[in-house]
Amino acid sequence: AKEAGRNRLNWFDPAMARSLHARNELETALRAAIPAGQIVPFFEQQIDLNTGQIVGFEVLARWNHPVHGQISPDRFIPIAEQTGMIADLSTSLMTQAFLAARDWDPSLTISINISPVQLRDAWLPQKIIKLLLETGFSAHRLEIEITERALFENLPLAQSIIGSLKNQGIRIALDDFGTGYSSLGHLRALPFDRIKIDRSFVQAIAEDQDSAALVGAVASVGASLNLPVTAEGIEDLAAEARMRALGCARGQGYLYGHPIDAANTRRLLAERRLL
Ligand code: C2E
Ligand code: CA
Ligand code: CA
Ligand code: CA
Repeated sequence: AKEAGRNRLNWFDPAMARSLHARNELETALRAAIPAGQIVPFFEQQIDLNTGQIVGFEVLARWNHPVHGQISPDRFIPIAEQTGMIADLSTSLMTQAFLAARDWDPSLTISINISPVQLRDAWLPQKIIKLLLETGFSAHRLEIEITERALFENLPLAQSIIGSLKNQGIRIALDDFGTGYSSLGHLRALPFDRIKIDRSFVQAIAEDQDSAALVGAVASVGASLNLPVTAEGIEDLAAEARMRALGCARGQGYLYGHPIDAANTRRLLAERRLL
């Protein structure tokens, strides 16, 4: 009884009322922000750890709110998922990202995060293909990042969607590996093209033996399944060296740069002669 009492929402608690109010305001504002073009793609460099070259970018959503400034995706993606707005948000973001990346050097790929909610939509592959055709961006330059959580809500549907995307030449990465429920069996059952090791492990391996062992195991599983491994959250040269030594093919993180908008990405690529 004590447990139940502690977990029950207290609707008269002013802090609770305030936070519900804040959430509702955010939801209303988000509904207007998507068609207004306030949700924009930022781009985070992906580096080949052996050559040091930029090989692609991960697309990360940013909300440029006219009053509150930049709002983090951790605040608005969950609301978009709960309200079904994630589909329109994703369409808008993909369109902007494809149009921006279309003119870059064709060797550069982009990786887009797809929410578990979107993997419940059997029409997702057709929707993405339509956007590729409309923008003229090549399917071969697109990678979709899917978290483990997304896969096991409805594995047969996820399998079918992943199969359709792959038939079009789109690549699939397993995101945030190590934080969810994957087993080696799942890794084998689904035709991933890449594994991304969550930054919590990448950042923990300096201090902690278990994380180092886990990252080493993931890297060798990747190698044995012929899957390249990307390390997220590389913040310094020591982390880069460790991840390279463990066999990670690619890295991302603040060492290379924070995510930047399309205009700044263009400037960066012009400097590197990658336009
Ligand atoms: P994620 O997919 O794991 O993205 C990586 C996050 O780590 C990004 O945060 C990125 O800015 C941050 N990051 C990158 N390098 C470093 C580093 O060296 N150190 C640290 N401390 N952090 C680093 P961000 O942009 O705030 O995104 C948070 C999460 O929101 C993403 O995690 C992803 O799950 C979700 N998200 C972002 N954009 C989208 C989107 O367009 N659609 C969906 N469904 N989810 C998105
Ligand atoms: Ca991601
Ligand atoms: Ca990730
Ligand atoms: Ca993450």
